Amino acid sequence: MISRERDIVNCNVCGDAVTNPICKDCLSAQMRSWFKIKNIDADIIDDASVIFDDLPAISECVKCGNDMTVCRHCFTKEVFDIFSEKYSEYKEEFTRLFNYEIYEEW
Ligand SMILES: [Zn+2]
Ligand SMILES: [Zn+2]
Repeated sequence: MISRERDIVNCNVCGDAVTNPICKDCLSAQMRSWFKIKNIDADIIDDASVIFDDLPAISECVKCGNDMTVCRHCFTKEVFDIFSEKYSEYKEEFTRLFNYEIYEEW
């Protein structure tokens, strides 16, 4: 039997179902504007982003229509890992801004 639930795809990294696909570039754009306000080095986002570039596309982003390769949790976690080492003073704020939504969706 072929599943007719064509909208359910799974993240390349964690394997979780992705119900609201937002690509890492759209997530990055949100992060970038906040990083700019806080004077945080946006290279962190690029460093995290390249890790997922070679993965196969799992879906199209609901925002921009581009291919997406990784769920928002995996991408945000990667950025957070690099971020929290360099800017521990903003850790809680980052979590509140970008992680909170993720856990809510779960
Ligand atoms: Zn994932
Ligand atoms: Zn997108």
